[in-house]
Amino acid sequence: MRCHSCRRFSLSLICRSCRELYLNPEPRIRKLATGLAVLSFYGYDEIEPFLLTKHLPHGWFIYRILAAEAFKTLNNKREEGVCAIPVDDNASGGYSHTAILANRLRYKGYHPLVGMLHARNRISYAGQPLAFRLQNPREFNYRGPDNIEAVLLDDIVTSGLTLQEAHGVLLRAGVTVRSAIVLADVDR
Ligand SMILES: [Zn+2]
Repeated sequence: MRCHSCRRFSLSLICRSCRELYLNPEPRIRKLATGLAVLSFYGYDEIEPFLLTKHLPHGWFIYRILAAEAFKTLNNKREEGVCAIPVDDNASGGYSHTAILANRLRYKGYHPLVGMLHARNRISYAGQPLAFRLQNPREFNYRGPDNIEAVLLDDIVTSGLTLQEAHGVLLRAGVTVRSAIVLADVDR
């Protein structure tokens, strides 16, 4: 196959040189207004060409690589008992990019809880102002277990509204959310 980035022949969809060039995760934490801490590994611009594959068939492989590279920076202290809940892991395009992230955290001891937190409203926020996002909440529905500790998983954080809304729904459902984990933060 060819590397998605440099088009050279490679055994992986992102070759070793491109991983070294573009995928050097730097963990950083942003605190949202509600106090939720969001851990990110990249600035959005740094990995945009990879993130844009999410609606393409090979995005599944790209996202697995992004998750593997990013989560290498997490320490190996087993997070026994902490659940990893992907935000709106709806597999409409054949797979869910947020479920890939949650499943990858299994290697760090987390317990992935997929298919539990879905948005009723999937209107696109792309290019919309903050006011539009506020007027059109995601209206999440959570049908997972209560009385658990969890981290929230998403690929990108922009305004943080989606994560804050998901956080609120989980809180009311009896889930203690420790933090959110995303690949990229648009704000850094
Ligand atoms: Zn390459």
